Amino acid sequence: MRTVTVVGASLSGLYAARELRAQGFDGRLVVVGDEPHRPYDRPPLSKDFLTGRSGEDQLALSDAEETTELDAEWLLGVRARGLDVRGRTVLLGDGRTVSTDGVVIATGASARRLPGCELAGVHTLRTLDDARALRAELAAGTRRVVVIGGGFIGAETASSCAGLGHDVTVVEAAPLPLVPQLGPEMAAVCAGLHRRGGVDLVTGTGVAGLRGTVAVTGVELADGRLLPADIVIVGIGAIPNTDWLAGSTLALHDGVLCDDGCVTALPQVVAVGDVARVGGTRAEHWTSATEQPRVAVRNLLAGHTAETVRPLPYFWSDQYGARIQFAGRRLDTDTVRITEGGVTDDAPDEGGLLALYERDGRTTAVLSVDRPRPFMRARRELGRGVTVAEAAVS
Ligand SMILES: Cc1cc2nc3c(=O)[nH]c(=O)nc-3n(C[C@H](O)[C@H](O)[C@H](O)COP(=O)(O)OP(=O)(O)OC[C@H]3O[C@@H](n4cnc5c(N)ncnc54)[C@H](O)[C@@H]3O)c2cc1C
Repeated sequence: MRTVTVVGASLSGLYAARELRAQGFDGRLVVVGDEPHRPYDRPPLSKDFLTGRSGEDQLALSDAEETTELDAEWLLGVRARGLDVRGRTVLLGDGRTVSTDGVVIATGASARRLPGCELAGVHTLRTLDDARALRAELAAGTRRVVVIGGGFIGAETASSCAGLGHDVTVVEAAPLPLVPQLGPEMAAVCAGLHRRGGVDLVTGTGVAGLRGTVAVTGVELADGRLLPADIVIVGIGAIPNTDWLAGSTLALHDGVLCDDGCVTALPQVVAVGDVARVGGTRAEHWTSATEQPRVAVRNLLAGHTAETVRPLPYFWSDQYGARIQFAGRRLDTDTVRITEGGVTDDAPDEGGLLALYERDGRTTAVLSVDRPRPFMRARRELGRGVTVAEAAVS
């Protein structure tokens, strides 16, 4: 391969570029990114960056030394608008084309929006520019903030806004937030963190619409209630960025369909990170975006699927001063057992908790709130396929 083009200049794109060089690719490396920024880290955007505890320089994923070593052509601020049917030419939004032998698709996902998102005071939080705009507005004085969606981004943003002294309400359409990720028992416990953080949680009702003419004034709920708001943050999930691939020969269905080795229908095109549906699963987590590129690049350079990626799913979230960590694959039928710490007033103890999900006497997943050490041990054992209860006592 003489030229490899990485489309998407963020976390998984940078890791793919690193892997290409680390695995010996010494040809032309082109990285295309529609944001004007060099790769930066998104997790702090809803956490320390939003509260002002960290600045933009702490978001950088790479430095000048690495940039020199990678020896890539960075085409930033330009969108890829197409991939030809053979996967050999990337078409750019400014009319240029890049002829290439291999492609890494790393275009991530975009925040899902609601009608009314164009009103002043309504925000989504996916990019640095989104976070800059929200941070500036939050700094302008105490506001009534309504967060739509109680998932991880919604909960973290609510937590940051409450920490800044704003009056915050979270609206969640489901009876409880985070049930798909944590199951009902532990989702109920984690929902208690909102209350402890002084945030109102309104569940079981959707949003009928946003009120306001120029600027948002409130959120109308499906049950008829109206929540007055100066700032609305829409955190209702993300959509994989595959629109630019329409017309290519790649299979697209809630992401770019790949085999277990991140290889698409074309062996010279691989996909990684939030945009990739790998072996039937699309993850939107930092760890998957950093683990997949090694295998994807190996397969790209081999020209076929030589290795598959089956990591243990893992994510973390920081909310209301607590760190939630989860690893494993749970099913709704699994039982859950708290093995360390406990629950006080329907929220995790101040000292946190560790919970194991079990099926047929085997541990399938582990959840921790502020118990990082036993969690790491349990995660390691789960990865090795050892029953965690045995590992914990040995
Ligand atoms: C606010 C926030 C907080 C988060 N917190 C956590 C956390 O606590 N824990 C956790 O595990 N995960 C967290 N995540 C998720 C994590 O950041 C993502 O999983 C990760 O960023 C995925 O990386 P990616 O490179 O695949 O995609 P992205 O980071 O989305 O990057 C894709 C890049 O491609 C660009 N692009 C899109 N289309 C095109 C195109 N046609 N042409 C050129 N460029 C294009 C995009 O603009 C973007 O720059 C968080 C995400 C957000 C937004």
